[in-house]
Amino acid sequence: MSGIIVYPDSFNEELQFSDKDKNKRILGTGPFEKQMILSKKAIRLAFNNKTDKHNTPVHKFVHLLDKMDGEIDGVPELFFGKEYIAPWLELMHKEMEAINNDTSDIRKYGGTSQTEFFAVASEYFFERPKLLKQKHPELYKMLSLCFQQPKSKTLNL
Ligand SMILES: [Zn+2]
Repeated sequence: MSGIIVYPDSFNEELQFSDKDKNKRILGTGPFEKQMILSKKAIRLAFNNKTDKHNTPVHKFVHLLDKMDGEIDGVPELFFGKEYIAPWLELMHKEMEAINNDTSDIRKYGGTSQTEFFAVASEYFFERPKLLKQKHPELYKMLSLCFQQPKSKTLNL
C-alpha cells in the first residue's frame, strides 16, 4: 500500500467531490488500488456510533491489511508471528461456527468467510474493545497481537 488519503467529504468514482452522489465511495479502486482513500465524513459517521460494533472504514482497511501478504484469506501473515497462524485459523473457525449456529454476538456477516470474519471481528475490536475482551477473550488477545505489534514488525502504511 502506498498511502492513505483522507478526503474532506464524499466523492464519486472519478474522485470528484459530490454531496449529492448516492454512490459515495470510501475506498479507492483502479488506479487508486494501492491507496486507501477515505472520506472524512464517512470516518466521522462510522466513529460516531460507539455501540453497534460496526465500522465500515475499519472493515475496508482490514481487507487491505489482509491483502498485503498477497492473499485475502483472513490471515494477516505480516502482522502475526508465524507461530500464531495455526491458532488464529483454529480460533477463527470456532468463532465462525458459533456465528453460523446463532450463538455469537459477532455480526452475522463474519460467518460468511475467513476474510469477512477478520474484518467484522476487527470492527468489533475497535468499536467495543472492552465488550470483546469480556465475551471473546482469545479473539481479543489475537487481534491485540495483530494490531499492536512490536515496532520492528511495523509496516510503513
Ligand atoms: Zn468485507
